[in-house]
Amino acid sequence: MSRKYVYFFGGGKADGNESMKNLLGGKGANLAEMAGHKDLRLPVPPGFTITTEVCAYYYKNNKTYPEGLKEEARKALEKVEKLMGKKFADPHDPLLVSVRSGARRSMPGMMETVLNIGLTEKTIPGLIKASGGNSRFVYDAYRRLIMMYSDVVMEKAQGIEPKDDESGIRKQLERIMQQMKKENGYSSDTDLRVEDLKKLCALFKDKIKEVLKKQFPESPDEQLWGGIGAVFASWNGKRAVSYRRIEGIPDEWGTAVTVQAMVFGNMGETCATGVAFTRNPGNGENKFYGEYLINAQGEDVVAGIRTPAPINEYSKSEHNKDLLTLEKAMPAIYKELFNIQKRLERHYRDMQDIEFTIEKGRLFMLQCRVGKRNGPAAVRMCMEMLKEKLIKKEEAIMRVTPSQLDELLHPIIDPKIELTHRPLAKGLPAGPGGASGQIVFSANAAVERAREGKKVILVREETNPEDVEGMRAAVAILTARGGMTSHAALVARGWGKCCIVGCANLHIDYDKKELFIDGKTLKEGDWLTLNGTKGNVYEGKLPMMDVSEENKILMDFLKSCDAIKKLGIRTNADTPEDARKARLFGAEGIGLFRTEHMFYGKGADEPLFLLRKMIVSKTEEERKKALEELFPYVKKDIKGTLEAMDGLPVVIRLLDPPLHEFVPREDAKLEQLARDLNISREELSKRAEGLHESNPMMGHRGVRLGVTYPEVSAMQIRAIFEAAAELLQEGKHPYPEIMIPVVCDVKELNDQLAITKKVYHEILAKYNLKKIKHMFGTMIEIPRASIVADKLAQVAEFFSFGTNDLTQMGFGFSRDDIGSFLPDYIKKGILPEDPFQSIDQEGIGELIKIGIERGRKGRGDLEVGICGEHGGEPRSVEFCHRVGMDYVSCSPFRVPIAKLAAAQAVLKDRIKK
Ligand code: PEP
Ligand code: MG
Repeated sequence: MSRKYVYFFGGGKADGNESMKNLLGGKGANLAEMAGHKDLRLPVPPGFTITTEVCAYYYKNNKTYPEGLKEEARKALEKVEKLMGKKFADPHDPLLVSVRSGARRSMPGMMETVLNIGLTEKTIPGLIKASGGNSRFVYDAYRRLIMMYSDVVMEKAQGIEPKDDESGIRKQLERIMQQMKKENGYSSDTDLRVEDLKKLCALFKDKIKEVLKKQFPESPDEQLWGGIGAVFASWNGKRAVSYRRIEGIPDEWGTAVTVQAMVFGNMGETCATGVAFTRNPGNGENKFYGEYLINAQGEDVVAGIRTPAPINEYSKSEHNKDLLTLEKAMPAIYKELFNIQKRLERHYRDMQDIEFTIEKGRLFMLQCRVGKRNGPAAVRMCMEMLKEKLIKKEEAIMRVTPSQLDELLHPIIDPKIELTHRPLAKGLPAGPGGASGQIVFSANAAVERAREGKKVILVREETNPEDVEGMRAAVAILTARGGMTSHAALVARGWGKCCIVGCANLHIDYDKKELFIDGKTLKEGDWLTLNGTKGNVYEGKLPMMDVSEENKILMDFLKSCDAIKKLGIRTNADTPEDARKARLFGAEGIGLFRTEHMFYGKGADEPLFLLRKMIVSKTEEERKKALEELFPYVKKDIKGTLEAMDGLPVVIRLLDPPLHEFVPREDAKLEQLARDLNISREELSKRAEGLHESNPMMGHRGVRLGVTYPEVSAMQIRAIFEAAAELLQEGKHPYPEIMIPVVCDVKELNDQLAITKKVYHEILAKYNLKKIKHMFGTMIEIPRASIVADKLAQVAEFFSFGTNDLTQMGFGFSRDDIGSFLPDYIKKGILPEDPFQSIDQEGIGELIKIGIERGRKGRGDLEVGICGEHGGEPRSVEFCHRVGMDYVSCSPFRVPIAKLAAAQAVLKDRIKK
């Protein structure tokens, strides 16, 4: 730990800078940069930041501070006093400060802030004098301090848990204030007069004493250190811990604490406060976008209590279109702000989220940070900044996260159907895409229903950070209050979740679990559909559709990824339609065509019947007859798929699942099958029973079927070669790769290769062809196969890692049953996550590495890919890149994500080097 605990900023100088985020937190580092960087030197109220190392010390040492901290802080405070020309605790002209949290990565609203510190009965008269006699402002600041301080420092930081939402000290004080407003017939907080506020402060203090058994502190110093301690304590507050879990932020990081001179946006009509973005975070457009409130403190903008006004014409919405813009209300200040935001964006070379305050006609910058954005906005901004030469291609790619890209692939309400529906109400479009779900009114209900597998929309008056788990569990969020910068909007945008805020016509009765909207009453469990891109709320469940196919910016972005990535990206597709869709997304081939999928779903009745006939055949003759009948269906699907992927490789896997999976269970089907085979029901039942296995996933499946019934393999191989031969004759370029599943020994491969060769030569002769381009290879999905990979590679020309089965057989966890114990494994920290989602790099990953290494020893030009579900999961894709695979294969919708992950893997390599 270094000896410097406190970093000062202000007056055109700063001890720290932007690169010190780990030590000063995002907020502290950016304030230092804005205040002290020679290109910026912006009007930032002076202050100082206590480092994250102090936070770590605080937790390691029983919530105490390192020696010397207080002295360092005192000296920094003196510098602030000097710059502000005021002294902390001075009864004649007191300096007030704010105390704020700031982790390395922004955790919006998850930790605590205390404003107006230093205001006491003794300093009140001095501030009134300094504010030109504005007693109302001073007492309002005092009541805010009391509310915030009692809540944050005296209750939360002490670990006091109110028994429910309504009994926390803050709620109790709010009720006193509501009562006073009601008694006086006031509709808004601003109606409270000085006398009311004075009375209120006294009532608040009595209540605090009664509930928390402690006096509100009247010493500025005690307030200051109480606030600092509370911010450190809030790092381990419930909601911060939940947020860290969801976002994967390590507990050890800790928060920094920034103490900064207060400037006031609420000293009168020449004051204001606001939040703005250098580009529109909702759609990425390169336009200055923001909201502000005259005569208000920062918390008023984000709390969603008053509707903020737009800063300029561009920021106008349905909701605020009649309010005066900052550009009109204070043109000179707007111009100054506009210029500053331009400089900030150029300096940081990224979209910035800025907070500002105007105190008596003077602009102050309170914060700037890289702005959260949704997926469509992220991709658009990157591509435009690339064109503007603000950033390079590599940066553009690193800035979009795989989950942001996922948002572009999210469904929207079918536009044609949406046109025929009238919205029940309109709100602010805070999170993109469309979603349908059943109404719930609390975060807990959202979590519970989601756990039952239901899609829910969380409907709240407003959300607060306590709701974060429920917001995560819901498919969408709808709030009655709040603006585009409210908590719900920020969090939803960060996650790319469909979200509408500030839907003013929505009224909620939490007790009855009902909502009223457009003259209608809807209950918990009723369906709603949201268009989060437009802000429209619809009754019922509207159909969704996917927009990704025609998105030009997305396609351009993916082209940039293509130019950098090394891994090939193929898709797992089992039908010609899937293959066509995947090709539109840029799939470079098929990594897995599961033959058996033609026996499920639409149009599968006839081939399934024939397959069943084949399965229950007793003699080779019966079986061959059934196979003959089945042949045209298999060939048709394969041909369609090869055609859709013309010119690109298509890995076609021979039949894999245990046959008994296909035996019919319904009486009518059994009857029909017996009739067709000309056998009795009893005989059929006997044959079906004969197929029963105790452990089918490790039973008669995969290559084992082909070993027992060579004619089954022969039929499929014939279908592949005939389909390819016909396409060749039609002038096309088919490229099948025949893949043998569930292999554990090279002799199994030899057995199947002999069949393949024989059929191949028959087809060449039949079609009078010299060659059909193809490959013969195997899946690696049994641990033994990895171990003997050198031998397998002498026969196989390619490997495809079937990491679903490899994980199953490597761990000995049944892929179908892991759900029953996985939650306990994760809760107890035995497993960090589900190994069927992201490759277990330590164990299964080693098996993959061994397989590749030994395989390439056996055959230098061995082609290696992956076709398990992991092939579309970003961290697994990065792993596949690192271990030198040639391609990954994933479901069509994950192709763009895999491309991005593959390009990012290359760039991360470069950074390491
Ligand atoms: C695998 O095991 O990873 C695989 C792709 O095959 P399946 O999921 O069909 O068993
Ligand atoms: Mg498998």
